[in-house]
Amino acid sequence: MTPTPPAPRNDAPHGAGAAAAADAAAGGSTGDPHSHRYAARTAGMTASEIRALFAVASRPEVVSLAGGMPNLAALPLDSLAVEVAGLIAAEGQGALQYGSAQGVPVLREQIGEVMAFEAGSTSATGGFHPDDVVVTVGSQSALDMLTRLFVDPGDVVLAESPSYVGALGSFAAYQAEVRHVAMDDDGLVPAALEEALARLAREGRRAKFLYTVPNFHNPVGVSLSADRRPEIVELCRRHGVLVVEDNPYGLLGFDGQTYPSLRSLDPENVVYLGSFSKIFASGLRVGWALAPHGIRDKLVLAAESATLCPPAFTQLVVSRYLATHDWRSLVKSFREMYRERCDAMLAALEVHLPDGCRWTRPRGGFFVWATVPEGVDTRAMLPRAITARVAYASGTGFHADGSGARHMRLSFCYPPPERITEGVRRLAGVLDGELEV
Ligand code: PMP
Repeated sequence: MTPTPPAPRNDAPHGAGAAAAADAAAGGSTGDPHSHRYAARTAGMTASEIRALFAVASRPEVVSLAGGMPNLAALPLDSLAVEVAGLIAAEGQGALQYGSAQGVPVLREQIGEVMAFEAGSTSATGGFHPDDVVVTVGSQSALDMLTRLFVDPGDVVLAESPSYVGALGSFAAYQAEVRHVAMDDDGLVPAALEEALARLAREGRRAKFLYTVPNFHNPVGVSLSADRRPEIVELCRRHGVLVVEDNPYGLLGFDGQTYPSLRSLDPENVVYLGSFSKIFASGLRVGWALAPHGIRDKLVLAAESATLCPPAFTQLVVSRYLATHDWRSLVKSFREMYRERCDAMLAALEVHLPDGCRWTRPRGGFFVWATVPEGVDTRAMLPRAITARVAYASGTGFHADGSGARHMRLSFCYPPPERITEGVRRLAGVLDGELEV
């Protein structure tokens, strides 16, 4: 069976009744008797291409280079089980009760240690105080809340080209107009950002924020070079544009190399997002935002209206893990594991991919971004790849306008090295077939 490729994001009409119109345009195929009731903004809520792939890509015979699931094999499950039991014994009902919308105080303090591990010291984080932190339900909920706080329908958000699919999902859900800004091997291109800002100024408009993933970018894999960082921050400040710095992969540099955060360069104009998903356990759904005080207070209000508070239990599990385990060593072992997998992928790409393909060479994180020869459409090719038992994420999911069909994201985080090699070999066979046509 070959799956039908999912529809590109944002191809539905906007405006009043757009959701119903979208359903009607699809021949009323959802059969949802409530379709005429949904708010106009739901037209932007389409299934992400990546999520739609999950079912097929997780079949055992398929090598999935599509998902971005962290590999949890190194987690010390036995000692974690002991700590979780100990947590209930020690905290009793307190671990199971409502808590502060800002997050559990002890965890907010420990987040300072995590950030200092990446930055080298607390002062290098851009100044840290537990009061500046809002604990969130993964950084995804921080993205949702920030968009809710800042974006009215039609407002502009600047984002790298391409950009993290989950962020694009939040922006679409609040009807933002996303303007993509070019990247190269050194990350976001300052001249392209300047041009986008100048164009907006000529239109008499101003972006609400720049959304950027400066370290080991999802989906491209590259990092913003150290010398570009002050330039990007300064451009945004000059044009009155807030920066949202999303940093879930910063601790996963293969050589342990880290970069100064954008926040450390301009703490009053940057909202920083961190996450325990990639350095501990994604299923606990614990992340955090560090924000200037006004924005922090609004985030707390947004959290109250969304969930009352982040779950106390999962926060305390993270807190206890940080207190009782050598988490720095675990992060180092994650780096090793991902480096080995990345090396396997890069070596296989070199050996197998046909002439005319290019790809990035990440020094951390989870992803390689590949560009295929002209004439190949990675979205159209996907069903044939699945038939050949390999899955990837087409570049189209990472652009608000559904462009990017000559690109694909290849994840090396989950399968073991020999499966990665086999997956790339299968992918190369599919590409060879496309180029013969
Ligand atoms: N930002 C980026 C760039 C990501 O890659 C992800 C996860 N794939 C997230 C945010 C969301 O992570 P979390 O699990 O913390 O919600």
